[in-house]
Amino acid sequence: MDAVWTAWAATVVVTVAAVVALAVLVRQRDRARLDAARTDPLTGLGTRRALAEHLEPLLRRGGAGLLLLDLDGFREVNDSLGHAAGDDLLVQVADALVRTVRGGEGPAGRVFRLGGDEFAVVVPGPCAARDLEVPAKRLLAGLSVGAFHADTVPLDLSGSIGLAAAPADGRSVGELLQHADVAMYAAKRGRLGVARYDRATDPHSAANLELLGQVRRAMEDDQLVVHYQPKVSGDGSRLLGFEALVRWDHPERGLLAPAEFLPPVERSHLVHALTRWVMITALQQAARWRAQGLATSMAVNVSAATLDEGLLGIVEEALALTRWPAADLVLEITETAVIEDPAGARRTVQALRERGVRVAVDDFGAGSTSLGHLRGLPVHELKIDRQFVAELTAHPEDEVIVSSVIALAHRLGLTVVAEGVETVAAADRLNALGCDELQGFFFARPLPADQAMAWVRAEGMGGPGVDTPLVVPATE
Ligand code: C2E
Ligand code: CA
Ligand code: CA
Repeated sequence: MDAVWTAWAATVVVTVAAVVALAVLVRQRDRARLDAARTDPLTGLGTRRALAEHLEPLLRRGGAGLLLLDLDGFREVNDSLGHAAGDDLLVQVADALVRTVRGGEGPAGRVFRLGGDEFAVVVPGPCAARDLEVPAKRLLAGLSVGAFHADTVPLDLSGSIGLAAAPADGRSVGELLQHADVAMYAAKRGRLGVARYDRATDPHSAANLELLGQVRRAMEDDQLVVHYQPKVSGDGSRLLGFEALVRWDHPERGLLAPAEFLPPVERSHLVHALTRWVMITALQQAARWRAQGLATSMAVNVSAATLDEGLLGIVEEALALTRWPAADLVLEITETAVIEDPAGARRTVQALRERGVRVAVDDFGAGSTSLGHLRGLPVHELKIDRQFVAELTAHPEDEVIVSSVIALAHRLGLTVVAEGVETVAAADRLNALGCDELQGFFFARPLPADQAMAWVRAEGMGGPGVDTPLVVPATE
């Protein structure tokens, strides 16, 4: 009996010991896994999870600041030099960030790597995003003198930082991260270096979400309309085409200009639907005019956010639906779109060109690094920003800029368009300077389709088919 008892007790002891040992092992393994989830194996920095665990108690205790940093052009390094070189560069950046923060020049806080080329610094204690601006700039300055290299290639690095501070900009980890991300994107888009979160321009803010919903419905309810502004030859004698400009015929607020509703749309996915709607509407109108004997081209504005592979699909669909020839479609893209993602813009523009569509760089001269980014961008047309055109005849320096742009564009084989021509004096001067096309209030404002056709007839710009009332019905 005793022997049986002893054996049984021994079994129990061994089993308990084994279970305890197993539990300890499991806990150790879990802890190791958790540690791994908290520490980025590449840089040794805390991960997104570690950031959340660090930030959470700070928010409960009153507040914290969050800086979100994204490197500019990192994808190009990865693509051209390979992932190993990219990884190596990320380690150098991590070290540089930690050095700046520890050295007391940057923000006083802890550095994390959230993934890819995205880093964050958490500054403990309640603060205002405004107070983080100078330390954020120092953090960027630290990057620019970092003497980085990838695969022995020396690199100039720059980045964009978004700032959000609790409690003002958000009370939870998720909210603060999202808002810092919105600010970072704004910094990147505007090439600002550092940007603070701004509720008014946040596409996810309640007011803007509501506006987006209204625009979506406006599109379905035919409340959006397109007006057409003529482009004429340099001497003002011939109509060369129209530019489509969207408006919102708001039931209560009247006709709204794009500036009043477009910015939040351009920061949301709705922008694709809007571009598609405007393109189809404008080409349908152009095709109707063509059927009436009016030969023109049609220009459509394309937001930076739509300048991607999706744009080709929209163009293809609109051309097929309206049977409009590709060569008579002009897409106006802004210089900022090109600056934001030069490689992506080049790919899309190249594909559009191969499809036979013309591409114009809009607002030329309004951006900061115009010429460098034009290199290798296969566009057809430059539209000189209207700030240089408006007071051309009053400011000699504007004339110098305009005449240089015209000369430059012609040497590159591009057509030059001047927008914002408001006076006969400006029109004459531009013509004398060799500008190919003119557009502005002096000739015509953007007009609803029927008034645009009336303008064409009144000016005698429609050619034989349109200007002879007997051949064409008086209204479209
Ligand atoms: P933009 O492409 O530079 O268009 C020219 C703007 O200048 C238009 O303003 C036009 O009404 C105005 N304008 C034309 N001639 C003159 C002039 O002689 N003097 C002055 N002071 N202004 C003149 P609008 O229609 O308010 O459009 C503003 C901007 O909104 C456009 O600038 C364009 O960037 C954007 N936009 C308009 N329609 C669309 C659209 O369908 N899609 C996209 N993505 N953007 C659009
Ligand atoms: Ca335009
Ligand atoms: Ca423009």
